[in-house]
Amino acid sequence: MIQAKGYAAQTPETDLAPWSFERREVGDHDVQFDIMFCGVCHSDLHQIKNDWFPGIFPMVPGHEIVGKVQKVGAHVKRYKVGDLVGVGCMVDSCRSCDECKEGLEQYCQAGSSQTYNGTEQDKKTPTYGGYSNTIIVNEDFVLRISDKLDLASVAPLLCAGITTYSPLRHWKVSKGHKLGVVGLGGLGHMAVKFGVSFGAEVTVLSTSESKEADAKKLGAHKFVVTKDKAQLKSVRGSFDFIIDTVSAKHDMNTYLGLLKTNGVMICVGVPSEPSPIAAFSIIVGRKSLAGSSIGGIRETQEMLDYCSDHNIVSDIEVIAMKDITQAYERMLKGDVKYRFVIDMATL
Ligand code: NAP
Ligand code: ZN
Ligand code: ZN
Repeated sequence: MIQAKGYAAQTPETDLAPWSFERREVGDHDVQFDIMFCGVCHSDLHQIKNDWFPGIFPMVPGHEIVGKVQKVGAHVKRYKVGDLVGVGCMVDSCRSCDECKEGLEQYCQAGSSQTYNGTEQDKKTPTYGGYSNTIIVNEDFVLRISDKLDLASVAPLLCAGITTYSPLRHWKVSKGHKLGVVGLGGLGHMAVKFGVSFGAEVTVLSTSESKEADAKKLGAHKFVVTKDKAQLKSVRGSFDFIIDTVSAKHDMNTYLGLLKTNGVMICVGVPSEPSPIAAFSIIVGRKSLAGSSIGGIRETQEMLDYCSDHNIVSDIEVIAMKDITQAYERMLKGDVKYRFVIDMATL
């Protein structure tokens, strides 16, 4: 086994703290890489706190992982020592169901292996994430990272990036569309960048009036403070698409009311409590309420290449590993500008 070190939550009640653990030896099809940066996703906080379901503890979070290849297995074809690589939210899947064959491993019928708080495909061996110094992953779930972009700012593309890129591509959001982005956090700010890059008119719908200048800097055309009833009323019935990235309980009916006839609201945020939907919210105006989870491996590589070609990265604040609990506290207040990224040299 390979000795690894990282930061783990031992229980949902305890803060993250240093922890040593073992990872598997590098197999014939595996890539081992030194983790240089890891993004901090709100899903990390949800999971260490058991917000969604009872987790597997000790838990080493982190699924926005980038670094440099240290070792490759005998049969690895695509990567060599020294390459820049990344890993997102999945490290394996069954490879044989219809979804896997289509490149939609995130919807694998047998359940894909989550990068942490999950198990390998043996359904027994726990997985540990990127708040650590090294990781070993099958080459099919390793992504290639361009050296043209700032590496720390690329890390959040592995989750926040693909989670917003994939639905905007699926629903073909483009020029002539009005897109509303609810919540300007990690996912939200990437949705703004992609929406603008795809040619849509983008409006940020935020609870934080202090974020207006930033929203405009990110490329948003309009900014609506959702706590202000008059501002909200001014955009009723105006959006072709809304992407909802909110991490906490909120009334989705309010946002459905902002869609045009035939409009689509795409949920990507995962609050711990369900939101009741009134039938009238979708019946009137033949609206669709949809959801989307990360993206498949092929599409994640496509997104990374698109970002490299179009010079798109995340806006980040680099933090030291020891400051993770303060970062979580700020995240809970919606005070993220706009993604924390851990410099793993500080581990
Ligand atoms: P984040 O950086 O904390 O951003 C969430 C934003 O939501 C906040 O910045 C805030 O924006 C807004 N918000 C927070 N509380 C709110 C409330 N009570 N009412 C209205 N707005 C509120 O989080 P993130 O990392 O972007 O993640 C967002 C959500 O997506 C999380 O639930 C996460 O687990 C989920 N997620 C889903 C997927 C997927 O595959 N579907 C992937 C990754 C993450 P304003 O200040 O602008 O209002
Ligand atoms: Zn995430
Ligand atoms: Zn499958």
